Amino acid sequence: MTIFPPGAAVGVLGGGQLGRMFAMAARRLGYRVHTFSPDRDTPTGQVADLEVAAPYDDLDAVAAFARQVAVVTFEFENVPAATVEAAAAHAAVRPSGRVLHVAQQRLREKTFLAAAGLPVPRFVPVRSLEDLGKGLGAIGIPAVLKQAAWGYDGKGQVLIEAAADAASAWAAVGRQESVLEAFVDFEREVSVVAARGIDGCVADYGVIENVHCRHILDVSMAPAAVPAPVAAEAVRLTGAVLEALDVVGVLCVEFFLTRDGRLLINELAPRPHNSGHLTVDACLTSQFEQQLRAVCGLPLGSTERLRPAAMANLLGDLWEGGEPDWRSALALSEVKLHLYGKTEARPGRKMGHLTALAATADEARARVLAARDALTARPR
Ligand code: AMP
Repeated sequence: MTIFPPGAAVGVLGGGQLGRMFAMAARRLGYRVHTFSPDRDTPTGQVADLEVAAPYDDLDAVAAFARQVAVVTFEFENVPAATVEAAAAHAAVRPSGRVLHVAQQRLREKTFLAAAGLPVPRFVPVRSLEDLGKGLGAIGIPAVLKQAAWGYDGKGQVLIEAAADAASAWAAVGRQESVLEAFVDFEREVSVVAARGIDGCVADYGVIENVHCRHILDVSMAPAAVPAPVAAEAVRLTGAVLEALDVVGVLCVEFFLTRDGRLLINELAPRPHNSGHLTVDACLTSQFEQQLRAVCGLPLGSTERLRPAAMANLLGDLWEGGEPDWRSALALSEVKLHLYGKTEARPGRKMGHLTALAATADEARARVLAARDALTARPR
């Protein structure tokens, strides 16, 4: 497989913060970065060499974009299949369109994982209200109904706590193809971010612990407080996913850890992940540099974590009372601020994050939460 050395141009489909941090890592290594998304002045576009603003279904624009780069990768997985195909006619696409195809639709993803013998919560496909009724009989209550397509951050999903709620739940997911899955009374949520190179070598960042708020990631910590055999199993399962999908690039596996110590895969993200943002400040090689190395066919870098770390997301809600008080947070000297260059702060929108390093993950979490509190403590 082809290797693309520093100096080459890398194309990123998508214009969000993941592409931005990828572009920053790529430029540090001397690459050129082109980005393609429907918008202008995107978080990625602001730091890329070239920003192309066109719809994903403008396949001529996609082809022209791909002709100017050596390799195309992506920073969000909901790129239409036809877009990936159009790019693949002119440049290497890593990871492959097949990885995207599996990971961009929940039903396909869960079916793939179950068929590969990987552990997932019990689930059934739902295509009608009748299916949902039958599914609730099979899965039991409580259960979670999730739209099969285009879902992220808890969008398009609803908790069903009584059989009588079936009709309203079906309406809530837009009466679209969905997955009904067992509600998991988890002890905690964890993730593993890992990369696989063109030679099949895998490098992982160990187990990261995640706390969600309103279905959106709120805080991540590493190392996760899980027993060593659980951590080893999470890493093993992640390696198995990378192999089974033949991934070249970075992939994150999100797990539920049940109260009886079992790991169930909730979701895959075939790209750097929000829970891996702490690798930028805490690890020898960030998840973004690792993505670059993997898709360019370079050797993977060391994932060694230099210190325990915690990351807290900064959502648009923080802007409600005015501009956050950056000085107060930055006054905490072991806290790092990352902002994504988004001009409009909407509730729930990821605007940036803070990372703190400390002697333990718990201390890092306390530190990062104190820093986030400091942003809104004073009247603005
Ligand atoms: P998802 O969009 O599927 O990643 O879900 C977002 C969050 O909703 C997860 O991280 C969990 O906190 C919660 N969640 C999703 N599915 C389940 C489930 N089957 N049981 C319990 N909580 C869930």
